[in-house]
Amino acid sequence: MTTLFISDLHLEADRPEIGEQFVEFLEQEAVRAEALYILGDLFESWIGDDDPNPHYREMKRAIRGVADRDVPVFFMHGNRDFLIGEKFAEDTGVQLLPDPCRVNLYGEDVLLSHGDALCTDDVKYQEVRTITRNPGWQAMMLKKSLAERQAIARQARADSMAHGGSLDPQISDVNQGEVEQLLKERGVRTLLHGHTHRPAVHRFLLDGTPATRIVLGDWFEQGSVVRWDVSGPELSVLERG
Ligand code: MN
Repeated sequence: MTTLFISDLHLEADRPEIGEQFVEFLEQEAVRAEALYILGDLFESWIGDDDPNPHYREMKRAIRGVADRDVPVFFMHGNRDFLIGEKFAEDTGVQLLPDPCRVNLYGEDVLLSHGDALCTDDVKYQEVRTITRNPGWQAMMLKKSLAERQAIARQARADSMAHGGSLDPQISDVNQGEVEQLLKERGVRTLLHGHTHRPAVHRFLLDGTPATRIVLGDWFEQGSVVRWDVSGPELSVLERG
């Protein structure tokens, strides 16, 4: 049996081809998997579980279809969909995971993360992250009307694009020292994350012994998946038909 990992689909109504590929992936592959882990930024933006967005409703129904087949589906927040809450979990059947989260895959301890918390060279982003992940700030946001939240999300997206566009690629990537510290703290040698949209398998030495960092890609032009079974992980591209 295979455990599947995806992240950074950035689903939105304006990019229906990503949603189509996601639904196909769920119906063809995820339903037969041992488990599916979604490591954040499944949605381009999320303004609250009460959002009546029909595209999102369709995506939720497709996820529910996997959970209903008794395949455990896990969801970790990204920096776009951190407002996903218990109602979403109930609607879809997913189990919400903390970031980071340690799991054991076929005998190997692996740390899962969205990845944005590791991008510590981007000081401005980390300041925003600290504010937006605060439960008090989130509760305050969710009390606003849907129209207000939609306007705020539009502005946040424009700010994020302006900020990201001006960044040195090295600054927007994870900080290697931060990665190593986290792995040491958690006592693991393998990290799997998304967020940076730089799919790769990085091998390095941690205190003299081999360690691995696997990075999932985004789904803008094609899909990206890690399939993990008894023989280990494999990072693959999902071609779009
Ligand atoms: Mn992200």
